[in-house]
Amino acid sequence: MAARVLVVGGAGYIGSVCAAVMAEAGFEVASYDNLSTGHAEAVTGELFLGDIRDRQRLTEVLKHGQFDAVMHFAAKSLVGESVAHPLRYFDVNVGGTATLLQAMQDAGVQVLVFSSTCAVYGNPQYLPLDEVHPQAPVSPYGTSKGMVEKILAASRDKEDLRVTTLRYFNAAGCMPDGSLGESHKTETHLIPLAIAAGVGARPPLSLFGEDYETRDGTCIRDYIHVLDLADAHIKALNRLLEGHRGNAYNVGTGVGTTVREVLASIAKCLGNEVPHEVTARRDGDPPALFARADLIKEELGWEARWTDIDDIVSTAVRWAKSPRF
Ligand code: UDP
Repeated sequence: MAARVLVVGGAGYIGSVCAAVMAEAGFEVASYDNLSTGHAEAVTGELFLGDIRDRQRLTEVLKHGQFDAVMHFAAKSLVGESVAHPLRYFDVNVGGTATLLQAMQDAGVQVLVFSSTCAVYGNPQYLPLDEVHPQAPVSPYGTSKGMVEKILAASRDKEDLRVTTLRYFNAAGCMPDGSLGESHKTETHLIPLAIAAGVGARPPLSLFGEDYETRDGTCIRDYIHVLDLADAHIKALNRLLEGHRGNAYNVGTGVGTTVREVLASIAKCLGNEVPHEVTARRDGDPPALFARADLIKEELGWEARWTDIDDIVSTAVRWAKSPRF
C-alpha cells in the first residue's frame, strides 16, 4: 500500500514541488501549511491549514490522516530577517519543529525527513564541504537549523524517531512544465531577482561584490535543482520506511558557479543582458560554498541530474515569464 505522507510547508516553493513529485511517484500526499508565505494554488492533495506551533491541530491532522511519515519544509528562511529578528527564527524553526516532533509522538508517527541547509556550516574551513565539516553558522537562520539538527539527533536516539536531514545547497529552478515555481513576496535570491531584472520586471540587480578571491571575483555557490531535491527526499523517505534510522546528508551538485556565470546563463536564455550594478559585499556571504555529496550517493544512491546551470536557469526563466501564482 502507498505510504501516506504529510508535507508540512507543502504550499511553499520546495515543499510544493516535492509534494507534486511524490504524488507522481505513487505516495498519498497531503499538505499542512499556514499560508504565511506559501500559496494554496501550489498545494498537492488536501490542504490542512495550521501552524507548526499548534501541537493540538498537528496531532489531530496526523491522527485523522493516519500518516506514515512527515516531510518538514515549514520554516522562516530569510537570512537578513533572521539577523534583524532572531527570536522569530528560534520560535518558528526551533520551537515549531519541537512541537511538530511532539505531535508526531502523540499521533504515533515515527518517520521524518527534515529540510536543513548548508548554512549550518558557516564560513568554510575547507572545500568541498562534507557532512563532518565543523558547524559554526553565521546567522540566526543557520543557527536555528543547526539547533533543530541537534534536537533530531537526540530524539533519534531516545524517542523512537527515524529521521533524515537533508542539507540543501542553493535550491534553484522550477517544474520544467511550468506548473510550479518560486513566488516569494520578499525575494532575496540571485536567480529569481536576476531573471526579473532581465525581463524588466524589477530594477537592475545589485551584484554583491566582485573583489572575492574566485575565478571572476564573484561568489561561488552550488545551485541544486528542486527536482533533484525532490528525488533526494523520496530516496531518503523510502530508506526510512524500510526501517533505517536515518542520517544527515548534503544535497548539492558539487559544481560551483559564480554570480557572473549565473548572469551569463540567464542572459543566454533571455537573449539579452541582465542589467546590474556592482555594489558592496553582502554581510555574511562566504566567497565560495559547494558540496561534497558522496555520502548520499553511497547510502541512498542519489546523484544530481541537473548539473548544467543553463538547464536549471531555463526552468526558472520559464516560470518567471508566466508564473501561475
Ligand atoms: N547575490 C547578489 N545579488 C542579489 C542576491 C544574491 O549578488 O541580489 C549573490 C550573493 O552575494 C551570493 C549569491 O548571489 O553570492 C547567491 O545568493 P542567494 O541569496 O541566492 O543565496 P545564498 O547563497 O545567500 O543562500
